[in-house]
Amino acid sequence: MLINIVDVEATCWEGEPPPGQVNEIIEIGICVLDTKTGAITPPQSLMVRPELSQVSPFCTELTGIRADDVSDGLLFSEACSKLVTEFDVKNRIWLSWGDYDRKQFTRDCEHKQVGYPFGSEHINGKALHAQLTGRGKQMGMARALEAYGMRLEGRHHRGADDAHNIARIVARLMADHGPAILGERSSVAG
Ligand code: AMP
Ligand code: MG
Repeated sequence: MLINIVDVEATCWEGEPPPGQVNEIIEIGICVLDTKTGAITPPQSLMVRPELSQVSPFCTELTGIRADDVSDGLLFSEACSKLVTEFDVKNRIWLSWGDYDRKQFTRDCEHKQVGYPFGSEHINGKALHAQLTGRGKQMGMARALEAYGMRLEGRHHRGADDAHNIARIVARLMADHGPAILGERSSVAG
């Protein structure tokens, strides 16, 4: 079975968005994990042009993404179409670390009146990892890598690199606990 591992970056500020702006997805990092082999595809990055906000210096500092990097990016609607055609997101289970990415997708779809591209099966990798390893204690991605003695590859807070690192953790979870951890559940709360 193929699972999409997704990590999004969004416009952000130190506190609340400035008046008139909203948090919007600007990068969709995605890679595919083959649950049979544990193989992970090279992560891809869909850069998305914000329509209702601007990339702040704070956001660039956090993510490394500059306004120029997204000014000729895909429209959010185009990125969603690409997810459907190239990553079969309607049919594959997808996994992200926590529930933030799923919720941010829902918010962007509402703001832009775009249909939610994914099917109904989402796995919260952070909650799954906590259930299996931490007696329920949830950890950030960087901390989970560290606990396994794994290096954080690439740049933290870049969607493509985060997606790749999350996939490495999930591959490790599968190796330790068996592939059924992904196949037998349709959602993990938390
Ligand atoms: P991450 O996947 O951890 O890189 O975070 C995803 C998105 O959450 C970022 O692109 C930001 O929009 C937001 N975010 C993460 N950390 C912070 C922070 N410390 N302050 C404000 N926004 C943040
Ligand atoms: Mg990220």
